[in-house]
Amino acid sequence: MPELPEVETTVRGLARVLDGRRIERVEARRPDLRRALPVDLGQRLTGSRVTGLARRAKYGLIETDRGDTLVFHLGMSGHWRIDPSETGKHDHFIVETEEGRRLALNDARRFGSLDLVPTEELDEWPPFKALGPEPFDIDARELKRRLSGRKAPIKLLLLDQGVVAGLGNIYVCEALHRAGIHPTRAGGSVSLERLERLVPAIHDVLKEAIAAGGSTLRDFASPDGELGYFPKSFAVYDREGKPCPCGARVRRIVQGGRSTFYCAKCQR
Ligand SMILES: [Zn+2]
Repeated sequence: MPELPEVETTVRGLARVLDGRRIERVEARRPDLRRALPVDLGQRLTGSRVTGLARRAKYGLIETDRGDTLVFHLGMSGHWRIDPSETGKHDHFIVETEEGRRLALNDARRFGSLDLVPTEELDEWPPFKALGPEPFDIDARELKRRLSGRKAPIKLLLLDQGVVAGLGNIYVCEALHRAGIHPTRAGGSVSLERLERLVPAIHDVLKEAIAAGGSTLRDFASPDGELGYFPKSFAVYDREGKPCPCGARVRRIVQGGRSTFYCAKCQR
């Protein structure tokens, strides 16, 4: 599943093709993904110029000179294909630039979404309105304030998009491991001192993954290049029974219906 670093990598890759470019043609090949596509999507995008790209939580933003922003979410399986030599049945949305570059949003499971939102109303758009701050914008004091009085496990609170936006299962597991915090500990009971280790750990695991994704972008211009997925290595994530760097075995528990991987020796 794409997490924040994949979305960030995707946005950076798309920017190389789209930023400052005029959109010559768009083609919506089905009326919906997870929800209906805007009916006037083609009309509002065709002929517009892309004025900027950005990311908010796990959404990618493509801003146009018509005051609209195309907001995409990759869901479970979505990714953009660059200049595909041919398109297939899972390429649901196609964008062509005036230079003849072609982008295809491919989403086999169709849990993704595409919306057009007036740029000046983005902060008030319902999916964004409830989001907490970006992980790179938060510090230990702000996180402490947000966790205050909360009895739910720290792992689940970090996944709560209203506490911090954009964190997913992988990077929460990795950041808690780096900070030495047990995933079942009540969020409100984690000391400021420990949050002062956790916040930089969150920043570092995300930055390292974004850097790994960025290094794959050199290949993006090749025909059939796919944006956003790249190999990564983890200390605990998806490593049940394998050794933690400390030598103890990584454990798996289920929290909120999802696997948590942690080391009982390193994390207290
Ligand atoms: Zn360990």
